[in-house]
Amino acid sequence: MAVPFRRTSKMKKRLRRTHFKLQVPGMVECPNCGEMKLAHRVCKNCGTYKGEEVINK
Ligand SMILES: [Zn+2]
Repeated sequence: MAVPFRRTSKMKKRLRRTHFKLQVPGMVECPNCGEMKLAHRVCKNCGTYKGEEVINK
């Protein structure tokens, strides 16, 4: 529920925001090369997806 902003102390507000995501969501580590890549997409670094080579480098 919405609360008037003065009712929320600076500390409470800041503590809540510590849980805000620091990274772009949907980023996973590539199982092949270990680079960060977008989930459910071909790895840009090594060109593999689900252990198969999709893009030749
Ligand atoms: Zn990779």
